[in-house]
Amino acid sequence: MRGLCIALLVIMAISLSAAEYQNGQLYLEINLAAEKQIQLTPLIPNTEIQISEQDGLFSRAFKGIVTISLANQEALSYFGILDHKEVSSAIISDSLVVTREFYAWENSQLTIKHELLYFLNNSFRSREAAEQFASLNRIPVSKIMEIPLVNSTVKLQNEQGDVMYLETPLKINCASSIKVNGGSLSFDGSFVLKTVNHKLVLNHFLPLEQYVEGVIPNEIGNNSPLEALKAQAVAARTHALSLLVNNRHKADGYDLCSATHCQVYKGKYLVNETVLKAVRDCQNEALFVGDSFADATYHSSCGGKTDSSSAIWKGKPLAHLNGVTCIPEADSFDLSTEAGVRRWMNYEYDTTEMNSWEKSTLSWEKSITCTKLAANLGMSYISNIKILSRGRSGRITSMLLEGNKDVRLDNEFKIRTAFGGLPSSLFYIKGNFQVSSGVIAIYPKGNIQMKGSGSGHGVGMCQVGALRMARQGKTYTEILQLYYPGTVIDSKWMAAKPKGIFIDAE
Ligand SMILES: [Zn+2]
Ligand SMILES: [Zn+2]
Repeated sequence: MRGLCIALLVIMAISLSAAEYQNGQLYLEINLAAEKQIQLTPLIPNTEIQISEQDGLFSRAFKGIVTISLANQEALSYFGILDHKEVSSAIISDSLVVTREFYAWENSQLTIKHELLYFLNNSFRSREAAEQFASLNRIPVSKIMEIPLVNSTVKLQNEQGDVMYLETPLKINCASSIKVNGGSLSFDGSFVLKTVNHKLVLNHFLPLEQYVEGVIPNEIGNNSPLEALKAQAVAARTHALSLLVNNRHKADGYDLCSATHCQVYKGKYLVNETVLKAVRDCQNEALFVGDSFADATYHSSCGGKTDSSSAIWKGKPLAHLNGVTCIPEADSFDLSTEAGVRRWMNYEYDTTEMNSWEKSTLSWEKSITCTKLAANLGMSYISNIKILSRGRSGRITSMLLEGNKDVRLDNEFKIRTAFGGLPSSLFYIKGNFQVSSGVIAIYPKGNIQMKGSGSGHGVGMCQVGALRMARQGKTYTEILQLYYPGTVIDSKWMAAKPKGIFIDAE
C-alpha cells in the first residue's frame, strides 16, 4: 500500500498536461529547452519575471536573470511501470491522481482527451529488474519509466543571490521578451516549466495561430508575396495538427518541439505585418483528405516536378502526394530516365522573376572525391556506381556502390548524405555512363562532378513554385490545389468540449 502512495505522489510531480482549448483557440506547448539547468534572461535588463506554482500557492517576482535548477540532483530514483486509462475530464476528485492530455481524431474533429496515469503496484531499484518483471508479465518495455523521487522542487536564484524553492509545474510570465540559456532567440508571453525524466522542460505556451506565425517566416521567407505566405501557413498549420493527432511528444511534457523534427519555430523572429496578415487571412484553415487532416509535407524546391511520397518514403501511395509538374517546361522531359535528367539539367528556361536564392536551388554543382565518398560509406575504394531507380521528379531513390564491398543506398536522404550533404538527390554525375540491363553504370575516377537541381525531398508543396505562382497572380487556394490535388480546405476541426467538474477515477 505504501508503494502505491509514493507512486501517486510522484506522478503529481510529473505533470504531463500540455494542450488546452480556451476562448475558441487551441493553445499549445512548444518546447524551447530540456536541460538540467535553465537560465531566463529578460531582454530589457531588470524586468520582473513572474514565476508561480501552477498547482500551489506560491508566487514570486524575480528581477533580472533567473537560474532554475533541480533542487536535488542526487535524488534517488526508482523504476515503475506506467499505465494509463482514458477518463472523460481533466478535473478529478482526488488530488493525488493526475491526468495527462492527448489528442484524438473523433467524429471528424480534433478532440483533447484525458487519461489517468498510474503506476502498477510494483517498483524496482533498477531498470533491469523492471524489464525482467515486464517481460515475465508480457508488459511492453515502453511502459517502464524512471521515477525521480524528490525533484519536483526546483531552485530559483537571481543575480543578487536570492534563492527560492518552488514546486513544478511553474507558470512564467514576463513583460519583456526572454532569452533562454543565453540563446540568440527571444520569446514573449507565457511559459510553462516542468520536470520530466530528471530534466527541466521549458515550453512556450501560445495559441496555434501564433505558433504558425512563428513558423512560416523561417520556412518561406518573410518578404514573400502574401498568397505564398498564406499557402505556407495552411500547410504548416495542417502539418502541426496532424503531428498533434499522432501525439509524438506525449511522454515528453509538450506538444511539439521547436526543431525540424516537428517544425522550426523561432518565436517572433522575422515575423512582420505581411506574415501576421497572411495567418489572419486563412485563420484556422487546414487541408483535409476525406475527413482526416491531409499529410501536408512541403520542401524548398522540386527542380521541375514534385515526387510521389511512395517513391521517396516507400509508404503506401497517397492520391494527393503523387507528384505534379511545377515548372511547365519540365512536362516534356521523362525525368525518371538518366537521359531525361541530363537533358533537363542543361535546359534553359525563364527564371528572370526569381530571386538569387530561388535560382540557386534550381541549378547547382558539387563535387566529391572517390576516396571521400568511399570513406563516407565505410568502403576502402569504389569501382563503380549504379543508379537503380529515379522517382518522377528525377530524384535518385536507389543506388548501388561497388568496390571492396557493395553498399546499397535506398532512399534520397541517404544518397544526399553519402555524397557530402547534397541539396537534393536530383543530379547526374558528369561524364559518360553505360546502360547494362536497364541499370545506369558509372565508372568514376578521382573526382566525382555532379550537376543537380532542387532542394529537399521533393514531396508536397514546392516553396519556389509557390512563390512563382503567387507572383503570377495565383491565389493560395490555387497553389494548394496544384501541390495537394483533391484536398479540401476546412477550418472547423476543433471539438470544443467544456471542462467537466467531477469524474470518477475508476
Ligand atoms: Zn518534434
Ligand atoms: Zn517546384
